[in-house]
Parts: sequence; C-alpha cells; structure tokens
Amino acid sequence: MEFAKRVGRLPIYHFAQIENEIAARRAAGIDVINLGIGDPDYPTFPEIVATLQEVASDRTRHHYPTNKGTREFREAITDFYQERFGVALDPETEVLPVLGSKEGLAHICSVILNPGDVALATDPGYPVYVNGPIMSDATPVRIPLRPDLDYQPDLEAIDSRVARQAKIIFVGYPHNPTGAVIENDFFERLVEFAHRYQLLIVHDNAYADITYDGYVAPSLLATPGAKEVAVEFYSLSKGYNMTGWRSAAVVGNAEVISAFWRLKTNVDSGMFEPIQLASVTALRQARKHVQEMCDVYCRRRDRLVEALRGVGLQAPTPKGAIYLWVPVPAGHTGASLTALILAQAEIAISDGAAYGPAGEGHVRFSLSVADEQLEEAVRRIEERVDLNIPEHV
Ligand SMILES: *Cc1c(COP(=O)(O)O)cnc(C)c1O
Repeated sequence: MEFAKRVGRLPIYHFAQIENEIAARRAAGIDVINLGIGDPDYPTFPEIVATLQEVASDRTRHHYPTNKGTREFREAITDFYQERFGVALDPETEVLPVLGSKEGLAHICSVILNPGDVALATDPGYPVYVNGPIMSDATPVRIPLRPDLDYQPDLEAIDSRVARQAKIIFVGYPHNPTGAVIENDFFERLVEFAHRYQLLIVHDNAYADITYDGYVAPSLLATPGAKEVAVEFYSLSKGYNMTGWRSAAVVGNAEVISAFWRLKTNVDSGMFEPIQLASVTALRQARKHVQEMCDVYCRRRDRLVEALRGVGLQAPTPKGAIYLWVPVPAGHTGASLTALILAQAEIAISDGAAYGPAGEGHVRFSLSVADEQLEEAVRRIEERVDLNIPEHV
C-alpha cells in the first residue's frame, strides 16, 4: 500500500517506543520502573467519577452530543477562567470542548495552516507542536529554548522572513519537558510579536494547576490584547488525574473558535455528555484536591532531586509541571545516559532529544509514579547508578 507522504514525515510517537522497550524487559522478568511518561498515577478524584456513574445511566445523555458542548460545560469553564485567572470569556463564542488538548492541538492546524505555511514550535516541546503542522502539510520551524533565557523563545532572534511566513506559534507554560514557568513579561512580548506578524498564538496550558513553591501559573489570555491573537488549550488531564477521559477546552479568539467548531463538526461528534458533566464537577467541586496533588509531586520532586544530585547529576527544582529536566554530564549524550540508567537501575526515562534537537544533552524524569515506586527508584539510583562506569547493555 502506498501511503500519503505526510505519514512518512511523522515520527513514531516517542512513548510508543519507550512502552515497547519496557514491555520487552518486563516480559524477560525485569522490573522496570517507568519514569518516562507523564501520566498521573493517582485515580481521578471520587466526586468526578461519581458524577460520571450517575449521569451515564441517564438515557437522555446517550445520544450524539453537540460539538459546541453543553451549556453546563461551557459555563463551568467560563466561571473557572474568571475565578482562577481573572479572564472573562463568553461561553457562547469563546469556549469549545476538545477531546483532550492533544486532539485540539493537532486539529487546529487544519484550521490555520495551508500547505507550505510555517508553524513556529518551541524546541524542546510537546511533539504535537511539530507533528500537527506536518499533518497539515505545513512546515514546522523549531525555535530553540535556552536555559539562560529560562526556556523562553528569543523572539527577536527569529528571522523576520520566517516570522512573516508563520501563521501560528505553539508555546506552553508551565513547560513540558523543562518545567519552566513565566515570571517576567514574556507573554506581553509574545502578544506584541503576534500582532506584529499577524499570527495565532496557541498556548498549551496543560499544567496550569500543577505548580510549586508558591508559584501560580497565569493564563496567556490575561495578557492585554491576547484574545485578538490567541487561543489557549486548558486540559483537565494532569490537574484532575483525568488523562484517560479526554477532556479539555479551547478558549479565546471567537473567530478561531468558530472556524475550529466548523472543522470539528466534520471530524468528531463532540464529547460524551457524562464526561462533560463529570468535568463540570471537577471544575466546580474538585479543585480542593489539586493542591494536595501539588504537595505530592513537590515531595517527589525533592526526593528525586536529592538522589540525582547525590550521584552527580545537576537536577534542577522546577516550579511547575511534573518532570525533572536534567542536563547530562560531560562524556554522555541523552541517549547514553538513558541507556545507562536503564541498564544500571532498571529505570526508564526519556531522552531529551525526543522533544526536539534542542533537547539533546538533557534527559527527562517524570514524577507521576506511585510513591513506593518513586522510593524504589530513589533507592536504585543511590545504590546502583555510577556515571563513571560505561554502560554494558
Ligand atoms: C499531557 C500534555 C498534553 C495532553 O493533554 P490531553 O488534554 O490529555 O490531550 C498537552 N500538552 C502538554 C504539554 C502535555 O504535557
């Protein structure tokens, strides 16, 4: 069978590869701890599950939902944005449910990009910022993020010809994989850049709820002038332990949301209403649990940072998201350090290069495994990892 060329341009999703490697080792009886993937280990909060159970037995909720979303869902998002971020939204025109932000990030490309258009994507970054544009036959251009600029793109360093060809820029803070957060005027400068070059900012706010050390993550839409040039994806996946539910919303620019709705009426038939109503429960009643989760991740962060520093790795302490982004020591690459840690400690982590070429030289540890497993990982690191012994894989 001859496939479309774009399929050949898509890489195999990195975590599919990690999962295969882990499965092979587990089949051989090796107890691998998976710190490779970011997927909360805790269950979804009970109020949310209870709403799903209750509403799922209501036969009036079994039909095709509308793509627009129920009034309850759109109003819950609107109220949440007002209370949490101080951002006013119109639930009629500025809010749309998406089946997880991954789906939304991928499909919004078809609304904005023509073949050959440029899409700017932060590097390292969530792989869909590059692969979404590829699926629209557009040209992703990676903008490198540097530690000395707090992993914020250097907008003035972007070639103005490239910026003029660009129709979209993908950013997301708190940032996966680096854990970087915004504590300066970057969002103001980004909005100014988008006005100057007439491009759409897509802000991926997947980790708004998960921050540490007193840091509170903003919405990009709280920046003056943002709504004219931006949409934001807010996901319930990470903050409410709802990764399997596929619940998120895109909010912001009404014209973009309307065009996106038009596309989505031709792609899917909306989000199952019991999931929408369970998401309402999350936003209206389960927010108190979010801080408890932050405390759990923060404790794990500190345990793992201590263990990694103990064996000579320069682990930073991020203020957001659920990862440690660790530079590899001299003499190593991301791939060799990943292999060494898998061989010596039987811990799977991810090679920073999986998030883009600028991620080379780093590895990513996820904090989303059960405490006992994290403690076991800490023990293995302390007892077995020796960076001076070359790998024997
Ligand atoms: C986990 C993650 C997502 C995916 O969120 P879903 O709503 O579950 O699709 C999006 N962006 C980033 C940066 C993530 O880490």
